[in-house]
Amino acid sequence: MIPVRCFSCGKLIADKYERYIELMGDNHPIEEIWKELGITRFCCKRMFTSHVEIVDDLLKFNRLQ
Ligand SMILES: [Zn+2]
Repeated sequence: MIPVRCFSCGKLIADKYERYIELMGDNHPIEEIWKELGITRFCCKRMFTSHVEIVDDLLKFNRLQ
């Protein structure tokens, strides 16, 4: 799963990840998602975007249960 904090700057990100997935699922523009979550640094954005595929698999798994 996603690390609790951004590797580069130490910002707490794990508590925002569920909301990020919700907004992505609703097809919100990515810049609006960053604004809503308060993510401003590229290093933190990278933490989210690099985990999308893994979470997609997890969501599929949950639906099957
Ligand atoms: Zn960061």
